[in-house]
Amino acid sequence: MTPYDAPLPTPERSASPLADGFGRTVTYLRLSVTDRCDLRCVYCMAEHMTFLPKAEVLSLEELDRLASAFIGLGVKKLRITGGEPLVRKGVMGLLTGLSRHLRSGALDELTLTTNGTRLADFAPELAAIGMKRINVSLDTLKPDLFRTLTRGGDVTKVLAGIDAAQAAGLQVKINAVALRDDNAGELHELVAWAHGRGLDMTLIETMPLGEIEADRTDQFLSLEDVRREFASFWTLTDLPLSTGGPARYVQVTETGGRLGFITPMTHNFCEGCNRVRVTCTGTLHTCLGQHDATDLREVMRANTDDAALIAAIRGGIDVKPKGHDFHIARSAAPAVARHMSTTGG
Ligand code: SAM
Ligand code: SF4
Repeated sequence: MTPYDAPLPTPERSASPLADGFGRTVTYLRLSVTDRCDLRCVYCMAEHMTFLPKAEVLSLEELDRLASAFIGLGVKKLRITGGEPLVRKGVMGLLTGLSRHLRSGALDELTLTTNGTRLADFAPELAAIGMKRINVSLDTLKPDLFRTLTRGGDVTKVLAGIDAAQAAGLQVKINAVALRDDNAGELHELVAWAHGRGLDMTLIETMPLGEIEADRTDQFLSLEDVRREFASFWTLTDLPLSTGGPARYVQVTETGGRLGFITPMTHNFCEGCNRVRVTCTGTLHTCLGQHDATDLREVMRANTDDAALIAAIRGGIDVKPKGHDFHIARSAAPAVARHMSTTGG
């Protein structure tokens, strides 16, 4: 079943893989389906955000066409993100349509990053279309702190969403941003809670993306320090697990769970990078921390067949930068002006 009027095409598989100028093969696409969100996390958004006009945002059909073109070029893993993907009207239809690539074998994994507020409603359908794993962002279990960090959110909804996802058979990974003055003292409890429920957990350092009201030097907490603290009461064993992404994993003996550290500020993870991002406006960014951008929306809108789109994707990936150059300096402008909610985390 497809959600659209016309049956959706499955592009032919391209013989030559998507490779960049440094010989890295791109097999992972993170696609943002909206810049909107029902929360306003302090490190992610300004309190009063101006969201994009509808005409600039790709339609559901355009999102499907774009993702399918990438899959035809060898992308095996597709992560839908935002903004908050589950606030996009019609998102379930989009996901249902995209799940045909799982059934055809073209795609190994279709997954989602969500804040979890609407997960209780969506979890059964997500599992039904073949989704196996999802990431849920949760920085604290404390209702008051959650309300402050998200500027008004209700943590009980997220917890109900996680319950529903587990009940539906989805594997859930919890992502938490480490914030020096807010959740630093609670991180070990959050890890123990996640592991106690059989969930993997990943900690993330704040990245300087987009203007927010706060000073990021006040929020930045080095995960090397967190790891050192954890190692004073837990046994951490490095795991060789590599996802081609920025996380480094350890096994925590005492909790019996797996813990990832994403440390863009203190560890360079670019050598094995296999991923690119496309914003909800159809802009291809091949590096989270650089300014490179290829507009795929206009190419799509100007051409009904996909030849020009495929050429534009290949052209954009060909110039994928070697790596990023983040630094957080007091009063410095963000490394990249676009917010994570625009790029898609
Ligand atoms: N709304 C969804 C969510 O929160 O999971 C998906 C989009 S959100 C932009 C994806 C991830 O980016 C979240 O885990 C969030 O914590 C993280 N994030 C947002 N802004 C960030 C920043 N400046 N530095 C590090 N992580 C950030
Ligand atoms: Fe929304 Fe996710 Fe950004 Fe929080 S991190 S404001 S939930 S997009």
